[in-house]
Amino acid sequence: MRPNQFASLFFAAAVASVPAFAAEPEISPAVKEQFTAVSGNAQVKQALDFIKADDTNALAELKAIVAIPSPPFKEQVRAQDFQKRLTALGFSDASIDKEGNVIAVRRGTGNGPKLIVSAHLDTVFPAGTDLTIKEKDGKLYAPGIGDDTRGLVELLSMVRALNAANIKTVGDLWFVGTVGEEGLGDLRGARALFRDHKDIDGFISIDGARAERITYVAVGSHRYRITYTGPGGHSFSAFGRPSAIHAIGRAIAKISELKTPTEPKTTFTVGTIKGGTSVNAIAEEAVMELDMRSVSTQALLDVETQALKAIKDAAVEENARWKTDKITVDIKLVGDRPAGQQAVDSPIIQTALLSLRAVGLKPELESPGSTDSNVAISLGIPAMTIGRGGLNGDNHSINEWWDPKDAYLGAQKTLLTILTLVGVDGVSKPVLTKAPIKK
Ligand SMILES: [Zn+2]
Repeated sequence: MRPNQFASLFFAAAVASVPAFAAEPEISPAVKEQFTAVSGNAQVKQALDFIKADDTNALAELKAIVAIPSPPFKEQVRAQDFQKRLTALGFSDASIDKEGNVIAVRRGTGNGPKLIVSAHLDTVFPAGTDLTIKEKDGKLYAPGIGDDTRGLVELLSMVRALNAANIKTVGDLWFVGTVGEEGLGDLRGARALFRDHKDIDGFISIDGARAERITYVAVGSHRYRITYTGPGGHSFSAFGRPSAIHAIGRAIAKISELKTPTEPKTTFTVGTIKGGTSVNAIAEEAVMELDMRSVSTQALLDVETQALKAIKDAAVEENARWKTDKITVDIKLVGDRPAGQQAVDSPIIQTALLSLRAVGLKPELESPGSTDSNVAISLGIPAMTIGRGGLNGDNHSINEWWDPKDAYLGAQKTLLTILTLVGVDGVSKPVLTKAPIKK
């Protein structure tokens, strides 16, 4: 999950008409009935107690896993380690798929819904980053220690708890470590899951700096690298030739005047620009990176269409100005994350709210985010990203820290959530609907 959510919350709080968190929906009697059955069951209580007692194992595991580098596109070593840990917990068929995701399926009694519960294997840190853990004032410092190593650890702790309490579910639980959640990974792991498996009924990603958080609306983004190229030449003797920098200036002037809706929130910015070689040279090359985001696919496509037209028109106008055709523009898509919205009162969200309250935490329904859940939400499959236990800060920086205080509450609320969603054999019916197979 992106660390800028704090910033967006502060911004939201500063604008009176925009609440920091969405209002919590009413809980339907049907969801409440199943949740009450699950949370009141003796075996489930045993599993929750197990998770609390398992805290020291989880901490040791966290320290071991965070030390394994997992840069973008190079998650293999951490993936193999995670597979080995799942195999040791009884998943003899835990596997790594073609994209690099680790998948272990805990089967239910049959004919129930299939729910993926996942955390991401990748970090933002390049190979060679010092991953040594430093402890100070009860906090652990190491790059990636919260985001999302703690998420992986919670998956393992939940598996141990289910096994120890001998819990049989109705639906299937897929425990998954995904690749490519961060940056240019572009959610390639989550995409592969839904490309290769058309029968998934629900998706949960454990990601986010505090257990209280629920992200259920997906901000889509399209990012481009735009390169203008021209003949260049001396600023005085070659005057009359078109300039790559003048062309990009025309493009930016047009883009900065675009109008986008506030609802659904749709944004754009030229984030970086570089080009030219010298003050007395007509620029041969100019490059910019453009970021566009929206919670609506249609609104995202609308702003994209306008921006791409502005970019092409700018080249045409710079050429027309000097009666030439020497300026060309190369447009490269470098980021593509799908958008999607979901009703705040969908059963999966209701279940998470009940689970958080049951362990004594106050739910926070977050502003739209960009996480592994984007893929499922964009496909209309019930999905959410819910926070990790403990406190976590300075994510995506080498100063990242994680505070283990009451960390077990995070895994407890997720266990209650997934059990209620897939149903416990002889105890409850699944809250998650088994969808017909999607084509
Ligand atoms: Zn993350």
